[in-house]
Amino acid sequence: MARVVALANQKGGVGKTTTAVNLGAYLAHAGKRVLLLDMDPQANATSSLGVDKNTLARSVYDVLIGAEPASRLVCLTACTGLDLLPASPALAGAQIELVPMAGRETKLRRALEPLRPRYDYVLIDTPPSLGMLTVNALTAADGVLIPIQCEYLPLEGLGQLLHTIELVRQSLNPDLAISGLVLTMYDPRTNLSRQVVEEIRQHFPVIVFRSIIPRSIKLSEAPSYGEPIITYAPHSSGGQAYESLCREVLDRER
Ligand code: ATP
Ligand code: MG
Repeated sequence: MARVVALANQKGGVGKTTTAVNLGAYLAHAGKRVLLLDMDPQANATSSLGVDKNTLARSVYDVLIGAEPASRLVCLTACTGLDLLPASPALAGAQIELVPMAGRETKLRRALEPLRPRYDYVLIDTPPSLGMLTVNALTAADGVLIPIQCEYLPLEGLGQLLHTIELVRQSLNPDLAISGLVLTMYDPRTNLSRQVVEEIRQHFPVIVFRSIIPRSIKLSEAPSYGEPIITYAPHSSGGQAYESLCREVLDRER
């Protein structure tokens, strides 16, 4: 049965998508069956895997409004073991269309049910907001993985996210756990990066992953080639870091 992990942080550009795509690719490489589910209307995870969001006839949008079963829309990717449930710009409409629907927060959870036996991991990439799409992802998830960008002091925004997670726990998904915090875009030359690492390790000593993702040009280039770092530049510092994060994720499972 798949473990469902949502990557969430309402702050934009912190590495949610980069982490979802690259962790997904390394987990698949380690022999796990992985589904990457793109819940962001920007569809960056979709395009990072080489799928053109503008040519998609259907996407996770159709799943959310109940027009298609999720299994029909799963596509294979160039990475063996890594499947994609793509997003498209239409997903932006779902934010609004879901509002009057009964059980609107549990749409994704229900739609995913039949897919769970087929995978070891479902990674859900979420948009930079705490709206209906993210709430659906948190309601469908067993755990939340929170990327933290080392270039901003994160604690204030993090409080808001943890509060939302707590609300989802109380009303919709009592078993939702925090899978971990991942420090991203680390630049050892800046005091700020070191300060963020120190602060996060102090406040969250158990849940923060030891692996730190450095700022790496290769990581920012790979999406425009439609490839994860594991094929684009596996020996780069970014590739090595995501491989190490993947090992930690697998270790925590034991
Ligand atoms: P959004 O909130 O808009 O969905 P996000 O949290 O998903 O953003 P990403 O898209 O993963 O963040 O990253 C933001 C930008 O930074 C992207 O251009 C990405 O390629 C780049 N980036 C992510 N991680 C790194 C890194 N470790 N080193 C260098 N660039 C990175
Ligand atoms: Mg993103």
